[in-house]
Amino acid sequence: MDYMNAPGRNHLFVPGPVNIPESVLRAMNRNNEDYRSPAIPAMTKILLEDVKKIFKTTTGTPFIFPTTGTGAWESALTNTLSPGDRIVSFSIGQFSLLWIDQQKRLKFDVDVIESEWGYGADLDALASKLAADTAHTIKAICIVHNETATGVTNNLNSVRKLLDHYMHPALILVDGVSSICALDFRMDEWGIDVALTGSQKALSLPTGLGIVCASPKAIEAAKTSKSLRVFFDWNDYLKFYKIGTYWPYTPSIQLLYGLRAALDLLFEEGLENVFARHRRLGKATRLAVEAWGLKNCTQKEEWVSDTVTAVMVPAYIDSAEVVRRAWQRYNLSLGLGLNKVAGKVFRIGHLGNLNDLQLLGCLSGVEMILKDIGYPIKFGTGVAAAASYLQNTIPMIPSRI
Ligand SMILES: *Cc1c(COP(=O)(O)O)cnc(C)c1O
Repeated sequence: MDYMNAPGRNHLFVPGPVNIPESVLRAMNRNNEDYRSPAIPAMTKILLEDVKKIFKTTTGTPFIFPTTGTGAWESALTNTLSPGDRIVSFSIGQFSLLWIDQQKRLKFDVDVIESEWGYGADLDALASKLAADTAHTIKAICIVHNETATGVTNNLNSVRKLLDHYMHPALILVDGVSSICALDFRMDEWGIDVALTGSQKALSLPTGLGIVCASPKAIEAAKTSKSLRVFFDWNDYLKFYKIGTYWPYTPSIQLLYGLRAALDLLFEEGLENVFARHRRLGKATRLAVEAWGLKNCTQKEEWVSDTVTAVMVPAYIDSAEVVRRAWQRYNLSLGLGLNKVAGKVFRIGHLGNLNDLQLLGCLSGVEMILKDIGYPIKFGTGVAAAASYLQNTIPMIPSRI
């Protein structure tokens, strides 16, 4: 029976959706309530202020949509751009590819810069385009901060520096779905115009919230942009922000309480500690992969991701079979290889509310599957490499202790 797997708890190591902490689960276990009562606007006001902290912005305006990352993409594009606008977009993996597909279907003139999968955004190519664009026909640069399909993190500050160097006014729109709340993200400092994330990734919530944050320049652009939009229109939200009722339509009450609890956890630990924890887990995972004699899909150290590792398997192994067996035999959920790397990589997600021992459990599961599938592995090699690194580095010390 293919649909049955091992008893006991599921070890969820896909790079989203991720584990939900107990306190967050309990915070969401509530009845519906009237969102027009004074309680929800009061709660929303504080939530919007607190959400700014995860983007590291004081000047940005956040919007919390009942949607997923895909809806947040659409909100970013349709509020700031008009059909036919030229945008430059980097194609480096499945998520950037899907965003580009959306950009084309929304009728923007998409100028795609391609990189091989495993490589980061080609910033030299961007520099050439900016240098040539003295008429400023490029209206926006769209970039995925962390490409979840290949485990590649792009350097956003370099994009800002290039635009400044060429004194180019294009907006920077950033998909931070698998980075925000896990990797350092500085909206104001890096001059990002729209940043967005989804609740089921590093925020460790259920799927269902798309959080978008707009710079003052992006809010200005929304006043004149001509793309059709209704559900995702920032101007509707702004109208209700002004009135103080906040919601143009029904918010998900339970997810708002969940978001409150998730933010409380992040702030108690301290965002910098959260980033440090992800750096340790990422490094430990990469050390295990190296000890197994396997290669990381990420082709250069500068791009390695601390939220997801895409592990390449030898040609005689089908990575989809690794994922299938992991789930069935060990109740371990690993990420599949997507599109161009289907069958060639499996992914270990190490983001969200996660600790050292959980990761070590996952790594020992991976060792068993690799053995099952015929890869010559010496048990304990990856686990030992990861454990000795974790044990030797400063553990997370939550600020509340
Ligand atoms: C998961 C993910 C998305 C898609 O988000 P959905 O919530 O599935 O719509 C977009 N971008 C990145 C980088 C992701 O990891």
